[in-house]
Amino acid sequence: MKSRVTSAIDFNALGMQSDYARVPYSSDVSAYGWIPVPMVCFNGGNGPTAVLTAGTHGDEYEGQVALRKLVQVLSRTQVEGRVIILPALNQPAVAAGRRNSPLDGGNLNRAFPGTADGGPTAMIAHYVATELFPMADLVIDLHSGGSSLDYFTVTLAHPGRDDGEAQAVRRLLDVFAAPYSIITDGSGGGAKSTLYAAAEQCGVPAISTELGSGATLSRHGLAIAQDGLARVLRQYGIAPDLEVPQPERTQFVKFIREGAIYAPCPGLFEPFVATGEQVEAGQVAGLVHRLEDVGSDPVELRFKANGTVAYRRFPTLTATGDALFGLMVVQ
Ligand SMILES: [Zn+2]
Repeated sequence: MKSRVTSAIDFNALGMQSDYARVPYSSDVSAYGWIPVPMVCFNGGNGPTAVLTAGTHGDEYEGQVALRKLVQVLSRTQVEGRVIILPALNQPAVAAGRRNSPLDGGNLNRAFPGTADGGPTAMIAHYVATELFPMADLVIDLHSGGSSLDYFTVTLAHPGRDDGEAQAVRRLLDVFAAPYSIITDGSGGGAKSTLYAAAEQCGVPAISTELGSGATLSRHGLAIAQDGLARVLRQYGIAPDLEVPQPERTQFVKFIREGAIYAPCPGLFEPFVATGEQVEAGQVAGLVHRLEDVGSDPVELRFKANGTVAYRRFPTLTATGDALFGLMVVQ
C-alpha cells in the first residue's frame, strides 16, 4: 500500500526546499489535519543521496541539534549530491520532549517497517521505509541515551546481508569515525524493528549513534555528530567543500550479552561505577535500595563479565526489569 504521507518537496528539483512530511491525523481538534514532520532537501543533481534523521526518539537532542545546524551549513555551501534531512522524525514525541509519541504511544525505533494506514508512528516509519529509503545511498539515524540512559559515545550498525553490504557499512562507520563503533544484529534491543535495521533490509548502508546522557545536550556528543556528518558528506562527494576535522580512527567494540544487569526489584538505584569505566567480573556494580522494604539489606549488584560500561541507567528510581548497566569489549 502506498504511503498516505505527502510533502510539497519535489525531490528531483534542484536547490534547497523546506517543507514537511505531512502525516494525516484526525483528532478532536483537527478532523482533517496533518502532523508537520519537518523535512529539508538539498539537491545538487550530481551525486549520491544521504537521508539523515534525528528525533526518532523525541528526548534525544544531540542529533536533533546537529541536523538543524547542518541545514544552516549546507545552505551556505555547494551541494553536489542530495541530502534529505528530518531532524524531528517523530515530531509529536519531539514536541512533547518524550521518547515515544504521546498520540499513539508509538516508539518509532520499534515501529519499522511500519504500515500505510496505522497510527501516526507507524505511518512515519512506513513513509521512511517506502519513500525515502529507495532514494537513499546512505542513511544516518542519530540517537542518544535519552531520559533513561547514560550512554557512551558509539556508532551502531547492522552487519549487512552480504560481503558487499558489509563493506559499505564498514566504510560508513570508518568515515563517520565516532570514537567507538559496534556492529550488532539488534538482538539485544530492537531487532528488525529499528530504522537502521529496516534500511539494511532495503540494501542501504545505515548507521545509528548513541551520543549522550539524559534529556539534555552534550557538547561532546554534539561535536561527534557534527564532525561525523561533515566527514560523510564530504567523503561521499555530496558536499565536497565542507571543512572537516582530521579523521580519527574508530575503535570497533561489541556488546557482551552476559554483561547486562537488570533491576531485580523496584527501588532506588545507587551505581558505583560510571559509563566508560573498566570493570571486572565479580566487581560490585551498585545497589538497589528496595522501595517498600526499608528493613532489609539493599540488593547488591555484581558484574558477571570483564568489560567497559557502555551504558548506565540515568534515573535513580527503578522498576523490576530496567536495564541498569551494559558492557562492551574491544573486538
Ligand atoms: Zn533513541
